[in-house]
Amino acid sequence: MRRLLTAILLVATPLLGQTPAQQARPAEQQKPAPEKPQPAPPPIVTPTEVQKPKEQPLTALPYTPSLDIPSMDRTADPCVDFYQYTCGGWMKNNPIPPDQASWSAYGKLAEENGEFLWGILEQNSSAATNRTPVQQKIGDYFESCMDESRIEALGATPLKPLLDEIAAIKNKRDLARFLAVEHPRDYGSGWLFGFGSDQDFGDATQVIAFAHAGGLGLPDRDYYTKTDAKSREIRHKYLQHVANMLHLIGENKATADKDAKIVMRIETDLAKASLTRVERRDPYKLYHKLTPAQLESLTPAFDWPRYLADNGLATIKTLNVTEPKFFKALDEEIKSLPLSDWKAYLRWHAVHSKAPYLSRNLVVEDFNFFRKTLRGVSELPPRWKRCVRYVDRDLGEALGQEFVRRTFSADTKEKTVDMTRRIEMAMEKEIKALDWMTDVTKQRAIEKLHAVANKVGYPDRWRDYASVNVARSDFFGNATRATVFESNREILKIGKPVDRGEWGMTPPTVNAYYNPQMNDINFPAGVLQPPLYDTKLDDAPNYGNTGSTIGHELTHAFDDEGRQFDGQGNLKDWWTPDDAKKFEERVQCVRDQYAQYTIVDEIKINSKLTSGEDVADLGGTLLAYIAWKDAVASQHLEPADGFSPDQRFFIGFAQWACENERPENLRANAITNPHSPGKYRINGIVANMPEFWKAFNCQEGNPMVRGAKNCKVW
Ligand SMILES: [Zn+2]
Repeated sequence: MRRLLTAILLVATPLLGQTPAQQARPAEQQKPAPEKPQPAPPPIVTPTEVQKPKEQPLTALPYTPSLDIPSMDRTADPCVDFYQYTCGGWMKNNPIPPDQASWSAYGKLAEENGEFLWGILEQNSSAATNRTPVQQKIGDYFESCMDESRIEALGATPLKPLLDEIAAIKNKRDLARFLAVEHPRDYGSGWLFGFGSDQDFGDATQVIAFAHAGGLGLPDRDYYTKTDAKSREIRHKYLQHVANMLHLIGENKATADKDAKIVMRIETDLAKASLTRVERRDPYKLYHKLTPAQLESLTPAFDWPRYLADNGLATIKTLNVTEPKFFKALDEEIKSLPLSDWKAYLRWHAVHSKAPYLSRNLVVEDFNFFRKTLRGVSELPPRWKRCVRYVDRDLGEALGQEFVRRTFSADTKEKTVDMTRRIEMAMEKEIKALDWMTDVTKQRAIEKLHAVANKVGYPDRWRDYASVNVARSDFFGNATRATVFESNREILKIGKPVDRGEWGMTPPTVNAYYNPQMNDINFPAGVLQPPLYDTKLDDAPNYGNTGSTIGHELTHAFDDEGRQFDGQGNLKDWWTPDDAKKFEERVQCVRDQYAQYTIVDEIKINSKLTSGEDVADLGGTLLAYIAWKDAVASQHLEPADGFSPDQRFFIGFAQWACENERPENLRANAITNPHSPGKYRINGIVANMPEFWKAFNCQEGNPMVRGAKNCKVW
């Protein structure tokens, strides 16, 4: 089930496709900024230009140092464009592979982890009798996914029972019975609305049911409402895609075209009734605890008693209806449209959500719209890559056990925990020294800081998949059963104590997150590998890179969204009004700075969407710097490779963000991604840091020196 508060990751999750199931998982260029030079546009790579990297199942992870001199461009001036200086070589040497929307230090490590997981899965996919139960599950799931000839032979037939269920719906009241079965089979919220469980915003010790806005096929409500030419073109292509998919499952062309228009009409109405991403950053806008009777009076056309009873929730007293306006609009839609329209809509969402598990014609049509048209990707990723992703998504803590056992040492864990503690101490020192915050708010901020739980590597207790039946010859069934297992796990939490040991990312994931309701920071084993974290190197680049990531996540506890929750995870205002106002002024400085940067073509950063991340980048880097200084206080540091220790800290910092992006992907990110492009996540930060100016001897007037205009929040 999708988490509501989304701006918690370090990087946006790279997706295989844009099916609702895949969206559900957590979820992290130069010049209109007058003071910044324009970066070279990212190379637009076509398949013929790229030597396909040699892909093979790996038995060991490759090594790239976390401070990588060949990735730099030492002809660039660090005071003019620090990103080009630190990442210029990387950008030149790492064109975007044809099956990727973007390519980055993070993405590359994720690919390497993927090849390593492939090795594990190949090893476990033979039906040997000496496999452990965990190895049997992951090995047989992978085997079923890789069995392409069987999947091809089946074509769209695995979808037939679902299409039959849709055909059998007798009246609109029956939609509730249908959705109570179908929602748990899908991670996303594409079928009319989303439903799951989460901690009560007002009382973080309780898990309650959540009903939230959904019902869309495109990745965001803005795709339906924007009126520029590019958006109109995308909607036109989406309409064609919906018709193509319906045609592929047997509708004649005329019916498929007609049905696509119906789908577009319903989804557009639902999009218009949904909050924007910026609005959803305000948790108060998403907190409406209602009784089931109140929900029923919002959407009387929908049979809520039946839906809740079929989910085993007949006796719940309250639930959070995140967007009441959406559910009111949904009621109008259900009332005003004939059942036949709803059946067309359901057929589309059936084929849309199940396409990845069906034959190649459906996989390719899905890819062509969601990855090629929307993201500019030219080639479908090879089957092994998609199958590794599905095992990671569906049985992630089973596969994760095998990954951790082979890659993550107790020593790495201990060092990371130590670094995290030092960064938390740096934050405490910074909070105490703030000149804009009163003592009473400082005291509460420090209480919250002390309550943050640090989770490093992997969960203390592994999820038990024993009840998931995995069959070697049934990919579609395996994916469905694993999804139902996960959905049921979420629903069964309702009314039970919160499990604070749970993780929202799998161990091999190359990412990190802060969860405001758990008040925890989480760093999976997958992100604590070279070149991001390199135990072979000294502290300077490691604090610059991973230390800044830790500081970034910690700062999320105090960003525009996170600061509204207390140390126990309750939505509760612990700020004096004056301190809150001063905080907002400081965030506004960062918003004004980032609003000047261009993402692609005429599109600027929507800094109302990205400011939580931008503030986390800024605060996190400073905290890592202070913690590093503290950690090496008793050491005499020497220059290395011609760089001073301070310079090595900042180069290590910048090299996490080296990336190339396709213009289509930048355009999609501008709508959906709360993170700024990599270039600005570096240049926008160092331009605010006197510690950087001093390290590189940059002067007032240099593009990387904002001087008196510089922003500082934490
Ligand atoms: Zn973040």
